[in-house]
Amino acid sequence: SPNSKKGQQKPRKDTPPYDYKSDAAKKVDLIALKRDERRQRQADERALRDQIHHLEQHDPQYEFRQMINEYRGALEFRPLRESDAIVENQITVCVRKRPLNDKEQNRREVDVMSVPTKNQLVVHEPKQKVDLTKYVENQVFRFDYVFDDTCTNDLVYKFTAKPLVKTIFEGGMATCFAYGQTGSGKTHTMGGEFKGKSQNFKTGIYGLVAQDVFRYLTHPKYARMNFTVSASFFEIYGKLVFDLLARKQRLRVLEDGKQQVQVVGLTERTVLTVDHILELIQRGSMERTSGQTSANSNSSRSHAVFQIILRRAGSKHIAGKFSLIDLAGNERGADNNKSNRQTQIEGADINKSLLALKECIRALGRRGAHLPFRGSKLTQVLRDSFIGENSRTCMIALISPGNFSVDHSLNTLRYADRVKELIATDHMVD
Ligand code: ADP
Ligand code: MG
Repeated sequence: SPNSKKGQQKPRKDTPPYDYKSDAAKKVDLIALKRDERRQRQADERALRDQIHHLEQHDPQYEFRQMINEYRGALEFRPLRESDAIVENQITVCVRKRPLNDKEQNRREVDVMSVPTKNQLVVHEPKQKVDLTKYVENQVFRFDYVFDDTCTNDLVYKFTAKPLVKTIFEGGMATCFAYGQTGSGKTHTMGGEFKGKSQNFKTGIYGLVAQDVFRYLTHPKYARMNFTVSASFFEIYGKLVFDLLARKQRLRVLEDGKQQVQVVGLTERTVLTVDHILELIQRGSMERTSGQTSANSNSSRSHAVFQIILRRAGSKHIAGKFSLIDLAGNERGADNNKSNRQTQIEGADINKSLLALKECIRALGRRGAHLPFRGSKLTQVLRDSFIGENSRTCMIALISPGNFSVDHSLNTLRYADRVKELIATDHMVD
């Protein structure tokens, strides 16, 4: 056998003795060791990837969810509280995050929004490198207030529209906008909480303003003013205006020589009680959504404008007006549906009106700046609310918290950010 000669073999000259290794040999050993380590590491990484892959079959966002949880774990949460101070701004811009809904939960979406403090929001944007490594980009936004998913309509109201009610009793104009993509919570916030298909109008900002208006009427400070209250409710759909208190009758918008804008023939109902005004809110809201399915909803493509008007008894002159606007879904403006020309035109109209609105609010903040109100029907009919010394406005940007909505949510936040930009030092003296 070949082994039988082994004992007779002399050590070869180029073979080092056992207690001696050349530097070259040590290097070879080290390389081997490193290779083994690398292979082990690669095996571990593969095992981890397999494990994640397995977990992601049940939870597609598993890895992002872990990363976001880790970020949240390091945050110190100090959210808005009922007792926090209300800041009196001429322009208030805030954001409300709603909870994940059933549909989003069933799809196992991950909540990508954190609200660490009363005026900060962090967006955890899921991203992927070219080599498919996942990571999260965290972006911080600041607003006047940020409402997290535990806030009620009552709390949102307290910091947004409520401080503006006294404005209309003191000869001013007030506006409050709900802005955001379809399904983000605009109608829930403005009209009231949904219970199945029915809506509790007492819990919406329309209804809450109405209740406070009637409370203020009897306030010793204002009772002697003898105000009468009336309300109107209409919808702007592209260039068309429809009366929601008159079976969607089409209305014309006219501008006279003095730039006074009028919606010709708009129903304006005198209201004597809170219940009466809630009835009008209900009627207009039902009119707005009648004959629609949520999948093909016209209401997401129109702006709804609810107005409460004050006049001194016996006078035609408007003493104060509160306009509350449930805006068209902002994702419509970005609609690139090439197959449907009608949708494209609608999208362009919505886009135009939302851009004009932003510019008008910014102009309001710059007092006396040129007001580009002719840019759209919406800003045209709201013109009188953007002029005057005593005009105040509030924008509530609504966001859906799920990862599928993150692009739309970022668009919403950037828009709201642009509206706010100028007003960092713009605190009104009361
Ligand atoms: P939009 O008017 O922006 O299209 P909706 O107000 O109709 O959106 O809201 C979409 C759905 O989400 C509704 O079923 C509504 O009840 C629900 N929703 C919205 N905001 C909230 C919230 N803050 N809390 C609980 N549910 C909400
Ligand atoms: Mg809606």
